[in-house]
Amino acid sequence: MSEDDEKIACHVCKKMIPKAAALHAEGAEYVYHFCDTSCLAFWNEDKDKEIKETKDS
Ligand SMILES: [Zn+2]
Repeated sequence: MSEDDEKIACHVCKKMIPKAAALHAEGAEYVYHFCDTSCLAFWNEDKDKEIKETKDS
Protein backbone atom coordinates (compact mmCIF):
# COMPACT_ATOMS: atom_id res chain seq x y z
CA MET A 1 0.00 0.00 0.00
CA SER A 2 1.56 3.25 -1.15
CA GLU A 3 0.56 6.75 -0.15
CA ASP A 4 0.90 7.76 -3.76
CA ASP A 5 -2.00 5.50 -4.67
CA GLU A 6 -4.28 6.66 -1.91
CA LYS A 7 -7.43 8.39 -3.15
CA ILE A 8 -9.43 10.94 -1.21
CA ALA A 9 -12.60 12.85 -2.03
CA CYS A 10 -12.51 16.56 -2.72
CA HIS A 11 -14.22 18.30 0.18
CA VAL A 12 -16.27 20.47 -2.19
CA CYS A 13 -17.19 18.43 -5.26
CA LYS A 14 -16.48 14.94 -3.86
CA LYS A 15 -14.41 13.95 -6.85
CA MET A 16 -11.92 11.25 -6.03
CA ILE A 17 -8.36 12.41 -6.48
CA PRO A 18 -4.94 11.01 -5.64
CA LYS A 19 -4.03 12.24 -2.18
CA ALA A 20 -0.55 13.09 -3.37
CA ALA A 21 -2.01 15.52 -5.92
CA ALA A 22 -4.63 17.09 -3.69
CA LEU A 23 -4.56 20.62 -2.40
CA HIS A 24 -5.22 20.86 1.28
CA ALA A 25 -6.18 23.39 3.92
CA GLU A 26 -6.20 23.00 7.66
CA GLY A 27 -9.46 23.55 9.45
CA ALA A 28 -9.89 23.85 13.20
CA GLU A 29 -9.08 20.22 13.78
CA TYR A 30 -9.10 18.60 10.40
CA VAL A 31 -7.28 18.82 7.11
CA TYR A 32 -9.53 19.32 4.09
CA HIS A 33 -8.57 18.15 0.63
CA PHE A 34 -9.45 19.78 -2.69
CA CYS A 35 -9.09 18.72 -6.30
CA ASP A 36 -8.06 22.16 -7.53
CA THR A 37 -7.78 25.81 -6.60
CA SER A 38 -11.36 26.65 -7.55
CA CYS A 39 -12.69 24.17 -5.00
CA LEU A 40 -10.26 25.50 -2.41
CA ALA A 41 -11.41 29.06 -3.13
CA PHE A 42 -15.05 28.00 -2.94
CA TRP A 43 -14.48 26.45 0.48
CA ASN A 44 -12.56 29.47 1.71
CA GLU A 45 -15.46 31.75 0.86
CA ASP A 46 -18.03 29.37 2.23
CA LYS A 47 -16.40 28.92 5.61
CA ASP A 48 -16.09 32.67 6.10
CA LYS A 49 -19.80 33.34 5.87
CA GLU A 50 -21.09 30.20 7.47
CA ILE A 51 -20.61 29.32 11.12
CA LYS A 52 -19.70 25.70 11.52
CA GLU A 53 -23.00 23.97 12.22
CA THR A 54 -22.31 20.46 11.18
CA LYS A 55 -19.39 18.30 12.02
CA ASP A 56 -18.32 15.08 10.47
CA SER A 57 -17.74 12.39 12.99
ZN1 LIG B 1 -13.24 19.60 -6.12
